[in-house]
Amino acid sequence: MVAVNGRKVLLVEDNDDNRTLFGIILRYHGFEVLEAADGETAVSIAREHRPDIILMDLGLPGIDGLEATLRLKSDPHTAAIPVLAVTAYHSAELDARAAGCDGFLTKPCPPDRVIHEVRRYLGRPELEPRSA
Ligand code: MN
Repeated sequence: MVAVNGRKVLLVEDNDDNRTLFGIILRYHGFEVLEAADGETAVSIAREHRPDIILMDLGLPGIDGLEATLRLKSDPHTAAIPVLAVTAYHSAELDARAAGCDGFLTKPCPPDRVIHEVRRYLGRPELEPRSA
């Protein structure tokens, strides 16, 4: 297994099964995983814990993933955190980019692709171990 040395991923997903599955996969690959099931919680966890990257489901109860991303990107404290939008709707990509999302993944998204994209946006952390 590739060591990623405490890189923190904030996994935002309101579907319990998907969140559980991707949490397991990310932890298996060595990431520390924070979880949120709605947009408000995602914003507050991001502000408090400063994850290295955020996987943002766009369809969420309360404020959606676009609004959560707008709030994170307008706050200097969290603006630099890469946000990867995850949605079943290809048509949402322009809205996601406009909201400040750095990347875009379409559901259903194979686990390998999620891990690949997370590593890519983190600058290949397996080659640049960082202490927590
Ligand atoms: Mn959803």
